Amino acid sequence: MSRPDDTRAPAYDATPFLPRDGGLDAYRRAAANCRGCPLYENATQTVFGRGEPSARVVLVGEQPGDQEDRQGEPFVGPAGRLLDKALADAEIDRGSAYLTNAVKHFKFTVAERGKRRIHKAPTLREVAACRPWLCAELDLVRPEVVVALGATAAKALLGGSFRVTKDRGSLLPMPGTDEERYIVATVHPSAILRADDREAAYAGLVSDLRVAARALDGS
Ligand code: SF4
Repeated sequence: MSRPDDTRAPAYDATPFLPRDGGLDAYRRAAANCRGCPLYENATQTVFGRGEPSARVVLVGEQPGDQEDRQGEPFVGPAGRLLDKALADAEIDRGSAYLTNAVKHFKFTVAERGKRRIHKAPTLREVAACRPWLCAELDLVRPEVVVALGATAAKALLGGSFRVTKDRGSLLPMPGTDEERYIVATVHPSAILRADDREAAYAGLVSDLRVAARALDGS
């Protein structure tokens, strides 16, 4: 006879895979072997954050896409190229930023015909499982401003009730810190690529990024 506990879903959690100490490189090496949730099973590799280790601004997306999964770097696909342009238009130097994702493995389904891998949104459990890596990155980089790109990143950082559609573009205090550190939520650049009115959607993204740029300028 099965016990009630047998019906419980297995716990997903990256915590046992985190190193006890070390810098970003140590965390990146450890994340390569994370088995904190099932997403590692079908993905090519862990896509850890990249960029300036003491960046003043960190940009957080949802999860790696197809190109990121193959290349092992965040924001190198079509959405990443659009983000590059938006950052330049908002006068944020991508070269001095740090870019990462809320979830470090690519989640996808395979199209019925062909081999095309189609993005599938991570569940709340998978986002929660991967959150220790994101928290570790933010603790190590200690940015002044974090930009949450899309609902998944915003919820990972600001809680499940946060609504990007309602509160995007506002400079909010970073939860869990006494220091003057801020977070700005906006849409994910992939949403611009899917928008009916791309021009307006792009202008909205740049406008939100300018809020982060002004915070970095102290104005
Ligand atoms: S998605 Fe995150 S928690 Fe899940 S296996 Fe990958 S690194 Fe670990």
